[in-house]
Amino acid sequence: MSHASPPVVGRLAPSPTGGLHLGHARTFLLAWLAARHAGGRILLRIEDLDTSRVRAEAKAGALTDLRWLGLDWDEGPDVVGPSGPYIQSERLGVYEAALERLKRTELVYPCTCTRAEIERAAAAPHAEDEGPVYPGTCAHRTAADALGLDRPFAWRFRVPTGEVEWDDWFMGPTVLDPSRLGGDFLVGRPQAGPAYQLAVVADDAAMGVNQVIRGDDLVPSTPRQILLYRALGWVVPRFAHVPLAIGPDGRRLAKRDGSIKLATLRESGLDPRKLVGWLAHSCGWTDAIVASTPRDWIGRFDLSTVPKGPWVVEPGTLASLAG
Ligand code: GLU
Ligand code: ZN
Repeated sequence: MSHASPPVVGRLAPSPTGGLHLGHARTFLLAWLAARHAGGRILLRIEDLDTSRVRAEAKAGALTDLRWLGLDWDEGPDVVGPSGPYIQSERLGVYEAALERLKRTELVYPCTCTRAEIERAAAAPHAEDEGPVYPGTCAHRTAADALGLDRPFAWRFRVPTGEVEWDDWFMGPTVLDPSRLGGDFLVGRPQAGPAYQLAVVADDAAMGVNQVIRGDDLVPSTPRQILLYRALGWVVPRFAHVPLAIGPDGRRLAKRDGSIKLATLRESGLDPRKLVGWLAHSCGWTDAIVASTPRDWIGRFDLSTVPKGPWVVEPGTLASLAG
């Protein structure tokens, strides 16, 4: 029995909430190479639903940073194609349709619990954002009960009990139990729009994305997203969660650390090919840092040589590249 595998479609999905930094550069390079190595396509999608954190100039900035690095895409806000629009705030109808299907199958219910949590749902959660398991206070409601509510509410997805497993391309077989990891989670609010979890799944499915390479801070989101794929009858993509970058102090690189922002490096005159060489070196593909373009690594891309731990960004190495 044999069948041709479908062509790979990968994506770059920056959130325009601040400048992209070296950690993003490495993750996006890996996502880009994984698709190009397979002869696949790349989409670029701007994830701007978290309006409290989005900065208008960061949308254009993300495209500029990624192009400076030498990445390209087959479809995106500046390369029109069949899967557009490519900015989440312009795709609200896609999320509304997915939510309607979840309502019809009673897989969501209106929740009137904590306001703070409801407001945070637009953002992609990072590992430290995991709160306690939702106690199911509103789970007795049906979707139709929303009509009689006199308070603001959000739609919450009914998480079945049990483990969810996926074969992570980088981490290997991974098992998490979303019913013990936050439990029923938010998927959207009337008027205010979808939560990150629903938007990212609806978009990847609608855009035909079948390969998702992203930072491992999103690992706790993955079993939730797999439940949404199943609930909506969509094919689950191949996932690879890659390590984040940290500073020598062991802390995660933050967008606020100006020195490692791509825009700062670009404006300082750094040769992006040196940066790409450093990233390739950090992935175990070369012993020496050689100035190179992403394209130079398509043939040598290999996820298995990427170190399992976080990438420690040494300021001294950065300084030597700039020199
Ligand atoms: N836009 C999200 C972030 O920057 C990534 C979403 C994803 O890759 O699923 O955190
Ligand atoms: Zn509730």
